[in-house]
Amino acid sequence: MKLQSIQISGFKSFAERTVIDCQDGLTGIVGPNGSGKSNIIEAIRWALGEQSAKQLRGQKMKDVIFSGSNDRRPLNRAEVSLQFENHDHYLDTDYSEVKITRRYYRNGESNYLINDQECLLRDIQRLFLDTGLGEGSLSIISQGNVDDILAGNGEQRRAVIETAAGVYRYKKQKADSEKKLADTQANVERVSDIARELN
Ligand code: ATP
Repeated sequence: MKLQSIQISGFKSFAERTVIDCQDGLTGIVGPNGSGKSNIIEAIRWALGEQSAKQLRGQKMKDVIFSGSNDRRPLNRAEVSLQFENHDHYLDTDYSEVKITRRYYRNGESNYLINDQECLLRDIQRLFLDTGLGEGSLSIISQGNVDDILAGNGEQRRAVIETAAGVYRYKKQKADSEKKLADTQANVERVSDIARELN
């Protein structure tokens, strides 16, 4: 699996549609302060499903939409697509080319797509879980993250190690199952109450 290209449009400082091709080998992004290097990394994290505006250095999710400049009006939509080559099927899907897209409108509407087909955020999260790019992964270390890890308590550091060791997937599955069990238990109690009332 390899990230082949990043397409950004209307996201943060990228008003114009911008395509960044990642060639074989190492890709470096250089530019003056404030030119948008971190915004590119945030575009990747956002497309992969980041839900916290704070993690994207904003207050609200709409802060990711281009907010205008001296010579350009604000835009109403942010869109980021990531194109992956998946011939080794490292991403658990039959497709050997995978494009994921996230769109967000100023009115709060949003879409997630896999290969241009609308999907749920959960589908994208599942696809990347434990691939090293999923939720909470350590492949993307933003400015300040290293300080956070060093300043974290034992539990937070343990979470970092568990993520790196691939335990996170199982913890998430366990939490999902426990929630289903609790929901089912609540349903059983509700049905028992109704049955008692009817008797
Ligand atoms: P440094 O080298 O200082 O870390 P950088 O190249 O990583 O800088 P970024 O932090 O990615 O730069 O970009 C910051 C720029 O993005 C700022 O000029 C800021 O105004 C702009 N920016 C952030 N959000 C938006 C937005 N929603 N609309 C327009 N511009 C935005």
